[in-house]
Amino acid sequence: MSKTIAFIGLGIMGLPMAKNLVGAGFTVRGYNRSPEKAAELAKAGGQAAGTIAEAVDGADVIITMVPDSPDVEDVLTGEDGILAHAEAGAYWIDNSTIRPDVAKSLSDQAAEKGLKPLDAPVSGGEAGAINGALSIMVGGAQADFDAVADVFDAVGKTIVLVGPSGSGQTVKAANQLIVAGNIELLAEAVVFLEAYGVETTSALQVLGGGLAGSKVLEQKGQKMLDRSFDPGFRLALHHKDMGIVTAAAREAGVAIPLGSAVAQLVASTVQQGNGGLDHSGLFTVVEQLSGKK
Ligand code: NAP
Repeated sequence: MSKTIAFIGLGIMGLPMAKNLVGAGFTVRGYNRSPEKAAELAKAGGQAAGTIAEAVDGADVIITMVPDSPDVEDVLTGEDGILAHAEAGAYWIDNSTIRPDVAKSLSDQAAEKGLKPLDAPVSGGEAGAINGALSIMVGGAQADFDAVADVFDAVGKTIVLVGPSGSGQTVKAANQLIVAGNIELLAEAVVFLEAYGVETTSALQVLGGGLAGSKVLEQKGQKMLDRSFDPGFRLALHHKDMGIVTAAAREAGVAIPLGSAVAQLVASTVQQGNGGLDHSGLFTVVEQLSGKK
């Protein structure tokens, strides 16, 4: 029998993921803090829930996709949250990117109430969410991971159990470190190429075919050339993630000198009022540093 899924948080990522679950044949009940997004899911064949209680009532799987650690804590443990209403035995998949220590503690609280928790942050951006092609790094128990494989398959392509609760978020923190560093160096390269009057489209084409090639270059290079920074993944969220990885690295006694420098540049871009830009908008601060803007 097909699973009933409660989907909480229908933002840039959550709404297309929920639509893909509908497309895969699941019954999907969506809840969003501002209700118009849930109405959009209903138009696509899902159901709109007015409250978290309504969404999780009788659900086999509960998915959360909200911005930050306090938001997940709110929807899980709040007075009218998931733990107050979900049925024991339901799987709770958190696709949000949050602190690994918070993920572990919330997973423990969920397990105490009889839920089966999986921290399962994703990578692949809005395009990956729309195309059902996300990478999903999962922390939790093997049996729980196996039991919801059909749910993961409907939204992702590369899906890996990386360890016990919290591990998914640790891997995602590393992901965000790598992506931010890539974006920063790509932005520096574009500003450098433009200073020499090189034909940048050709330059990025040939760079993309060599060792400098990357998904970041493929997906963000043209955005920088066009100065087109509509999100996508908002810089404010990447700022949150750089906070997560710098704190977790410090906690582990690990030095991340380049990552820390990039975290400062991301923070500066956000402080200048550009937190709503796509993370490729880190380019704006790189331009400024060279007096090009
Ligand atoms: P988003 O577009 O800002 O959507 C966030 C959603 O969470 C919105 O529906 C929002 O509701 C809801 N929300 C926010 N705070 C809430 C709260 N306290 N209680 C209940 N609902 C709340 O964000 P997103 O880009 O989809 O990102 C979601 C998560 O995925 C983040 O952790 C992000 O780091 C991660 N992620 C994003 C991308 C990407 O490319 N965008 C890629 C990988 C991972 P309202 O509509 O009412 O504001």
